[in-house]
Amino acid sequence: MAYDDQNIFARILRGELPAIKVYEDDQVLAFMDIMPQADGHTLVIPKTPAITLLDLDPDAAAYTIKIVQKIAQAIETGLDAQGIVLMQLSGASAGQTVPHVHFHLIPTSVHELGRHAAQMGDQEKIKSFAEKIKAALS
Ligand code: AMP
Repeated sequence: MAYDDQNIFARILRGELPAIKVYEDDQVLAFMDIMPQADGHTLVIPKTPAITLLDLDPDAAAYTIKIVQKIAQAIETGLDAQGIVLMQLSGASAGQTVPHVHFHLIPTSVHELGRHAAQMGDQEKIKSFAEKIKAALS
């Protein structure tokens, strides 16, 4: 399958759609999920176009995981998270809804996971979690 450069995350990366960002560098962007499965649900994406983890260049994957760990640490500190679920869905058959590879960081227990990409969150509440994560990063 060819990469669709009109997918939502590609458009966020180009600045065509808004996102509540917590971290950005030349290779990776981290931003808040708009349909969070728990308070502080954050997404980390490589900037390189790839649909699934299987398509992603190994060096880009390694760097992205480094930032996943950094953001997880900030979620733990900033939101006093007791545990974090790291989720990565590769392929529509796995439930992937946005065809640009991404890692979910969800501060919850696997036993408490909500329905996937199901309900819009409160934007102001999401922003307040983003501010706490950003403060823990700085
Ligand atoms: P997946 O199903 O693994 O591809 O996950 C896609 C995630 O992106 C879901 O958790 C959605 O809630 C989230 N999402 C969809 N659109 C946006 C958006 N515009 N900004 C932030 N998160 C989004």
